[in-house]
Amino acid sequence: MEGKGLIPKEQIESVVAATDLVALISSYTPLRPSGGNFLGLCPFHQEKSPSFVVSPSRGNYHCFGCGVHGNAIGFVMDLEHFAFTEAVEFLADRAGIRLERGQSTSPHQGHGEVRGCLDLSLEYFRQNLIGAGSNSTIRLYLKKRDLSLELADRFALGWAPEGWTKLHDFLNQKGVPIKVQEAAGLIKTGEKGEWYDRLRDRLIFPIRDVQGRCLGFAGRIIGEGDPKYLNPPETEFYKKSSVFYGVFEGKDAIRKAKKAMVVEGYLDVIRLHEKGFRHAIAVCGTALNGEHVKALKRQGIQEVELVFDGDNPGKAAALKASKVFLENEIDGRVTVLPEGLDPDDFFKKYTGANLTALVDEAPNDYQFLLAQAFEEVKDKGLWAQKSRLDELITLAQGIASKLKRDLFLGQIAKRFQLDLGALRSKGTEPAKKPQVNLEQRMILPSKVDLKEASPEELRLMKYLVAQPQALGLVRGKLESQSFTNPHLQELLSRFLNLEDEEFGALGPQELPEVFKEYSSVLMQLIFSGNPFATEDYSAEKVQGLVLDLQKSAARRKLKGPLSPEEAEALAKAQAEARKKAKENCLPQGSSEANQHQG
Ligand SMILES: [Zn+2]
Repeated sequence: MEGKGLIPKEQIESVVAATDLVALISSYTPLRPSGGNFLGLCPFHQEKSPSFVVSPSRGNYHCFGCGVHGNAIGFVMDLEHFAFTEAVEFLADRAGIRLERGQSTSPHQGHGEVRGCLDLSLEYFRQNLIGAGSNSTIRLYLKKRDLSLELADRFALGWAPEGWTKLHDFLNQKGVPIKVQEAAGLIKTGEKGEWYDRLRDRLIFPIRDVQGRCLGFAGRIIGEGDPKYLNPPETEFYKKSSVFYGVFEGKDAIRKAKKAMVVEGYLDVIRLHEKGFRHAIAVCGTALNGEHVKALKRQGIQEVELVFDGDNPGKAAALKASKVFLENEIDGRVTVLPEGLDPDDFFKKYTGANLTALVDEAPNDYQFLLAQAFEEVKDKGLWAQKSRLDELITLAQGIASKLKRDLFLGQIAKRFQLDLGALRSKGTEPAKKPQVNLEQRMILPSKVDLKEASPEELRLMKYLVAQPQALGLVRGKLESQSFTNPHLQELLSRFLNLEDEEFGALGPQELPEVFKEYSSVLMQLIFSGNPFATEDYSAEKVQGLVLDLQKSAARRKLKGPLSPEEAEALAKAQAEARKKAKENCLPQGSSEANQHQG
């Protein structure tokens, strides 16, 4: 581990000089140029208009709202709650400067008792592994898992042998108070109040931060037993929602590439490092979340290569992670491994070049989301498609980058055959505003043209789709020739071929399934306007529409306007029908207008 002595003054100065203050602060709050300075919302207090000024020439920042000011070191001390030396170490790491330390007076100086206890335990576990005989369970296990001693050393792997209190006894002997051992997450109490080790008979993975400080230990069972992996409990230092395994071991590669490969398991990280993917890290016993992404961005990471197991949990986790990437504005590339393999298994069959090829060809986060969503609903009903589409559009509209938002919307439009212009125009304002509903946002498939349809026939068909039991009001009064649009003509005659009861039993959502060949027409009828407002529906309105349609059909039949007599007869019939409808009783027989068609 690195020495913990004082950092020489000139080293501190070179760390500050090497830090791009604008880039550093931009990873916490967006900044825009303003004169020679940069301006943004203050990360230290809540504000709506920016009063936080960063001056790259002076190397400092100042908030005119809350009065905070300082240089790069002060910034990370305040925002990350780092001590001075921790802040310098953090910035040195970011800038790629290796600190040369003065002589340390005590190995755990300034790091508190818990930190000291974690360091002592790491050495204890490590020495157990190094000193173990070649026939010990740990050595046999390493051999079985094909883990070399060189790899074990690189990751400071350790061994917690069988037995209940071995670490506890060791720490007692070193004079570490029990409350410190407990605060470090290393011991637990049994039923009788006796203390025992959390980690027993396990291969130990120390989880270290970027500076190499141990935060806690995970353990893989060596023999039989549950759980297979034991993650550290939450402590003062170990916060599972923002910690990654492998950030210390991978920091040089990560800094150089400005990207990280995120995988699911501890052994996956180790195997990937062995195979040359030294930017591999893993989330520890939790799903990737926004805090994780913030931690990655603070390390200067701009792109994440997700490589998850080729099974259903892996796929589901990759989906969730893709959403997190989009919501937290980092570029993600998503690889789901083939054939149920995890990265460790992958290399039993394939090579590093194979993995590189997979990752290079992998879809990015939004492409992956879209492909998975489409795959999932493409054979399902309209409502499943609608709700998934709704989710995707909401997600896309929340993307801050206009370019990425437009790319995503463009691909959604292509996949679901929607009009991009409409999606984009609704997508220019990211998030915040109340979402317009899908019907308003969606431009309908343009494969079938309903433009020629009269408003009455469109309206009537919308009613029939929304209220299939209304078919009885139409039967005998209209036929397909009553419509002008050929698609609606076909659909109406298709409807009329069914018995009233048969048709009336269909829910609107079932229609596009039952009448698959007309699904495009049906989608337009269902999605345009507001046909499902049942308060808008009445038998009277349907009858009114039927009469209007009879009238215009008769007019077309005569290829000219009705004669005064015909018009009068029709108006009479119409008035009578309306009167009857008001009495909630259907007009009997066919109207005079209908007879014109004979
Ligand atoms: Zn402020």
